[in-house]
Amino acid sequence: MNGKGGSCLEKTVCVIGAGIGGLTAGAYLAKHGYRVTVLEKAATVGGSAGWYVRKNRLFPTGATLAFGLEEHGLLRNMLNELDIDLPATELLHPMDVVLPGKTISIYKDSLDWEAELKKTFPEHSQNVLNFWRNLTKIGESVLAFTETRTALPIETFSGLADILRFVFHHPFSLMRLARFSSYTVEDFMRKYRLEQVTPFRQMLNVQLIDAVQTDVSEAALLPASLALTIYRRGSFSIQNGIGEISKRLADRIEGLGGEILLNSPVGSVSYNKMEKQWEVQSPKCKASFDIIVNNTGVLFGYDPSKAQNRNPDWGAFRLDAVLKEDICRGPLRGKKLPFAYQIVPKSEHSKILREEAGPLYVTFHPSLNKNGETVAGEVMMTASIHTNPKEWILCTKEEYKNKKEKVKNAILSEIEKMMPLKEYVIDAEAGTPLTYQRYIGKAYVGGTSLTVKHAVLKPKSVRSSLPQFYIAGEQVFPGPGTLSSALSGYYASMAVMEDVKKHDYHSR
Ligand SMILES: Cc1cc2nc3c(=O)[nH]c(=O)nc-3n(C[C@H](O)[C@H](O)[C@H](O)COP(=O)(O)OP(=O)(O)OC[C@H]3O[C@@H](n4cnc5c(N)ncnc54)[C@H](O)[C@@H]3O)c2cc1C
Repeated sequence: MNGKGGSCLEKTVCVIGAGIGGLTAGAYLAKHGYRVTVLEKAATVGGSAGWYVRKNRLFPTGATLAFGLEEHGLLRNMLNELDIDLPATELLHPMDVVLPGKTISIYKDSLDWEAELKKTFPEHSQNVLNFWRNLTKIGESVLAFTETRTALPIETFSGLADILRFVFHHPFSLMRLARFSSYTVEDFMRKYRLEQVTPFRQMLNVQLIDAVQTDVSEAALLPASLALTIYRRGSFSIQNGIGEISKRLADRIEGLGGEILLNSPVGSVSYNKMEKQWEVQSPKCKASFDIIVNNTGVLFGYDPSKAQNRNPDWGAFRLDAVLKEDICRGPLRGKKLPFAYQIVPKSEHSKILREEAGPLYVTFHPSLNKNGETVAGEVMMTASIHTNPKEWILCTKEEYKNKKEKVKNAILSEIEKMMPLKEYVIDAEAGTPLTYQRYIGKAYVGGTSLTVKHAVLKPKSVRSSLPQFYIAGEQVFPGPGTLSSALSGYYASMAVMEDVKKHDYHSR
């Protein structure tokens, strides 16, 4: 195991929030002998990479596409270390980016991808290829660093030792990372005179807004290089949905003697200085713990001056629909479909959608019932778009209802332009940032945008300013996405173990 754990002597840990970050932290800690209790607000695990049941159908709560599950991939290695088996289907054609007047297919195979770039940007093909090849090299260096499992910022001697080892083994990668550390993606585009090429810029923006929560003008080149090139390493769909990752992590925690309490939102936590214990209250748990790992993205009223979370930027509006399977025989017949579509709304279409921050992210799946069995005669479609939660929070009830209906119809119409869809819809239900607030406790999802400041200069640590209190999830290093959240959970568990070894917190 790639662990740095110290002796835990039955320390008790409360993981608040059963998102993929918290569960990863809990699983590593349980594996190292900690007594882990996970308290989760919702009725299922997985948070925004989980699932929910409506009208006997299983819908994803957010994420659908998984990364890092290839052999020796970052997530695969973590799951192996935790003795978790997770079948996943590799996607050779994970995505189509649909721009006004152009569709660009993203392929796993490098040759197919380069051919697609040449075909789509014929007037700039050499610059585009050079941009992409060099971006790939930067992405490889970022990956090499990530594979050392060094958490940023560096706060301990062992972190420093990890960096020195990296310098020793990858001197060229380090030089590359140092050289581009202050670059935005736009700075890098300038080197290839591509910053003014509108469709190229749009294609990058669409992917970056989903992956790092901001566009080329602000996205830090280092994390963006990995996000943009990761499809060549591998992207995956998971039978029964991405929530299966969290389900298996939760099962593992229980298998190791930990407990998972669902429908158990934590209302308050308080620190008992004398006992050096955290007192935690939820409907199903009133107990003291040596250590807290907070994976919720909410503060619990503690230490607001040194807020654990930067304000995240976005919320999500989503549409979950059940369609008649006939759509596959009709409009989609014989089409080579990607797993997902990222669609830039066409300008003439819907004013409403342009007020939201595209792209529209759409996936099609088999329709599953609540037991995970395929429902004959149906397919499922999920669509989501970034939106500003404030616009929903500040609405009156009437305005909220109207806006929700308008955005829902605009999304359907936008997809309709790609394929005739409306006549196949059996059922479609929308969720807004207030829906997320209600079910997973936060209206803002997706963490903070990975700008140079947030990702490189001041990455957010898994350690908080509070004693024995750690943070995991999309709001801390390395940032948004299921793979990053899982890594943050790993980093949080390692920080706990290192600190326990150093300070030997008293357990009762
Ligand atoms: C619409 C959408 C689509 C996405 N698509 C993808 C994708 O395709 N691929 C990808 O890799 N990533 C995707 N993401 C991002 C990814 O889902 C998240 O970054 C990741 O799942 C976050 O995990 P987390 O553990 O940090 O937090 P979360 O999943 O947010 O988990 C937080 C947990 O804390 C719980 N909680 C909150 N308050 C309390 C409380 N008081 N007490 C107890 N529990 C509490 C919540 O219920 C929740 O379960 C998507 C996100 C969204 C919203």
